[in-house]
Amino acid sequence: MAKYTIKYDRSKCIGAASCVKFAPDTWKLDDEGLAVQLKKEFADEELDKQVKAAKSCPAHAIEIYDETGKKIV
Ligand code: SF4
Repeated sequence: MAKYTIKYDRSKCIGAASCVKFAPDTWKLDDEGLAVQLKKEFADEELDKQVKAAKSCPAHAIEIYDETGKKIV
């Protein structure tokens, strides 16, 4: 089973919350209105959801890498 890694750059986050909409188990907004990452890895069955969340970020704060280290988003 493939493992994917999520990399998040909070300094880029503008609190748009689309990541929370697509993957509420992985992202939430904190008191400052910025995203907090609740999960750093996920498996195949979440790929679609996690890619949607990452691609939806207008600030490009979320990146996803596969287990070979290749950047997917
Ligand atoms: S979608 Fe991007 S900018 Fe919006 S809250 Fe999530 S990480 Fe921040």
